[in-house]
Amino acid sequence: MISRLHDPNYGRWACQIKRTGGCRQPIHLHGKVEHYDQATGQLLHRYSTLHEPDGVLRVACKTRRASRCPACAEVYRADTYQLVRAGLVGGKGVPETVSAHPCLFVTLTAPSFGAVHVRREKNGKVLPCHARRDAQTCSHGQVMSCTERHSAADPRLGEPLCPECYDYDGSVLFNAISPELWRRFTLALRRRFARLNGLTVKALREHTSVAFAKVAEYQRRGVVHFHAVIRLDGPDGPTSPPPVWATADALAQAVQHAAAVVTAEVKPLGRIFRWGTQLDVRRITLDGDLTEQAVAAYIAKYATKAAECVGTLDRRIQPLDDLTALPVREHARRLIAACMHLGSHAGLADLRLIHWAHMLGFRGHFSTKSRRYSTTMGALRAAREEHMRTEEITTGRLPLFEEDTVLVIAHWEYAGQGLSVGEQLLAAALTGVRLWSPGGDPR
Ligand SMILES: [Zn+2]
Ligand SMILES: [Zn+2]
Ligand SMILES: [Zn+2]
Repeated sequence: MISRLHDPNYGRWACQIKRTGGCRQPIHLHGKVEHYDQATGQLLHRYSTLHEPDGVLRVACKTRRASRCPACAEVYRADTYQLVRAGLVGGKGVPETVSAHPCLFVTLTAPSFGAVHVRREKNGKVLPCHARRDAQTCSHGQVMSCTERHSAADPRLGEPLCPECYDYDGSVLFNAISPELWRRFTLALRRRFARLNGLTVKALREHTSVAFAKVAEYQRRGVVHFHAVIRLDGPDGPTSPPPVWATADALAQAVQHAAAVVTAEVKPLGRIFRWGTQLDVRRITLDGDLTEQAVAAYIAKYATKAAECVGTLDRRIQPLDDLTALPVREHARRLIAACMHLGSHAGLADLRLIHWAHMLGFRGHFSTKSRRYSTTMGALRAAREEHMRTEEITTGRLPLFEEDTVLVIAHWEYAGQGLSVGEQLLAAALTGVRLWSPGGDPR
């Protein structure tokens, strides 16, 4: 920390760190950017990292995972919020008339893989976990009942009453196959909706299209479920109104049907998976119980969480890692072990379970959307970069060029990542973002 502070280049280093917005693990780049006049070939401007502190430029890591970098995850969360919100009320290139399109907020859950400790509330009172008067005793001698009223912080929540009975293989296979189950759900939904209106899927497309945005969320038991915004548009997407017969009620019926009938099979094991029976379908309205802000905020919140919130790791596990030494709870360890042993099954190679063991088998994207739902993360990022560029021009750092007369040649190389412990302290002071957790290891 002291040597960094005394470095004659400290001012420039501090400037780089401020621009990363408090990124915990900035990426170091070597390279240069040259601007040439396209007509004359004259070099107009050159930027090189040669004169930067340590000869590198530090840029934000842009991860979406809060456990790795809170500052960058916050940017991602905010972008997700804007993206979801634009699809509900317009903005960012989506017309405001989209808010009149029928729209649902749907939660698709996973089935049960065995009884787990739960916290349920009714009228503000916590109910007993699994109160069963005629509780069975399983073959491992465990009574399948729990009369405790668990606190919200109880670490046993989401953990099985009997780990020996729990279907760990089923849980990780469901996570692995859930993106396929979701894909089939969207197809079945369109088919059913067409049928309800007496049309073929092809004919339906001439009148209306279905757009969606979704996020995956881990439940405490380590299995994913999905929250989705599903919207009806006209044939040209959000810019065209859906026909009057394309109602939210008909869409809700189609959702209910599709969620109940779709299946996905893990063929080599002959195991068939379907959604859990708990299905939540609600209308999104501008002034009702479920407003567009609430939905956008909810979806964005989950976009930056990963499996670590159920007590597993946020990095890959290697086949030779000692599972007993991993700093996780027994339930997560068993889920990881299930991924490791199923992953060695040649017939299941496609599921890449070993690669995704730290995610408990789930290898899908956390937030996805259909092409025409709203704007894209890329467009939001580009808009922000353009804004920063304008700022650079107005603060005199980049000369103002006519976009189409200038040729830009850039060459970048990865030169490392991260901050030393001393640098983390300085960076925290500079950006106001705490880059380490108290009591935890600085990373
Ligand atoms: Zn970062
Ligand atoms: Zn319990
Ligand atoms: Zn048992």
